[in-house]
Amino acid sequence: MNRILLSAFLLLFTVTAGAQQRYAMVIHGGAGTILRSQMTPEKEKAYTAALQKALQAGYAILKKGGSSVDAVEAAVRVMEDSPLFNAGKGAVFTADGKNELDAAIMDGRTLSAGAVAGVTVIRNPVTAARAVMERSKHVMLIGKGAEQFAKEAGLEIVDPSYFYTEERWRALQRAKALDSTATQLDHADTTKKGAVNRDHKFGTVGAVARDKQGNLAAATSTGGMTNKKFGRVGDAPVIGAGTYANNETCAISCTGWGEYFIRLSVAKTVSDLIEYKGLTLKAAADELIMKKVPALGGDGGLIAIDKEGNIAMPFNTAGMYRGTVTEDGKVEIRIYKD
Ligand code: ASP
Repeated sequence: MNRILLSAFLLLFTVTAGAQQRYAMVIHGGAGTILRSQMTPEKEKAYTAALQKALQAGYAILKKGGSSVDAVEAAVRVMEDSPLFNAGKGAVFTADGKNELDAAIMDGRTLSAGAVAGVTVIRNPVTAARAVMERSKHVMLIGKGAEQFAKEAGLEIVDPSYFYTEERWRALQRAKALDSTATQLDHADTTKKGAVNRDHKFGTVGAVARDKQGNLAAATSTGGMTNKKFGRVGDAPVIGAGTYANNETCAISCTGWGEYFIRLSVAKTVSDLIEYKGLTLKAAADELIMKKVPALGGDGGLIAIDKEGNIAMPFNTAGMYRGTVTEDGKVEIRIYKD
């Protein structure tokens, strides 16, 4: 009898411990017209290495029992520091020849969130977003006020010239030459009306994670759209549009034509479909990315992880820089559709 009880206890213990082990992280480096035919082996190698570095940064935290908030921030910081992605160092230029950055982070355990928009001197906007979440009573700070807040919080401030990259500058000149008035998505499909940007090699970055405690978190960071004007803000820093996390459902980070993602409240709607309609993560994510967003004329993708650790990475563009790392340390990085 005692032996039976002991076996039952051991089984329960194993199952519980197993459940706690289900930690994982997913990242993206933007979706868009990313074609194998337009990629050089060197570029592919550089992107793969950068994504790998970001995954490793988050995994190291998750593995030692750290929080999903720490993990997504660490992964996004790595991509912000890389000139390859349209976030932080690699941000695209506005019509005025500036770099204006947006970022958000959300903690699925408490539903607390932080965001910054239109900032020009904060080296790592995702860290500023986290400071807003944890050290202010607010959710979103913009422009000069956000920068002042970041300075007071002791975050790293850089000269705006830090964000200059030759490649992005040339992309702005090309965009202006094609159509000086059109606001252009960094990775848009050129066949789409209003999207004339031909530089599709970069993108917004994001990370979602589930930690050993089962807590979910999401973070997104971007330079927005090439040639953007009038203080334009995209979906990335808008909680519920480009970024969302709720322990009861899922964590999501989006990339794509921001205006459509805002109009459809994409990230929160995916969460709602799970919470109120009982859809699986995949079905909910597909509903938005494969149906609603394209039906409205937008494009893009998202990465998501749910409370059980299931992962979805749908996109309706040619490609999306994306990667996963699971508790066994297995890293998978993909760029194209197949
Ligand atoms: N969603 C971003 C924006 O509209 C752009 C991107 O995903 O690259 O600002």
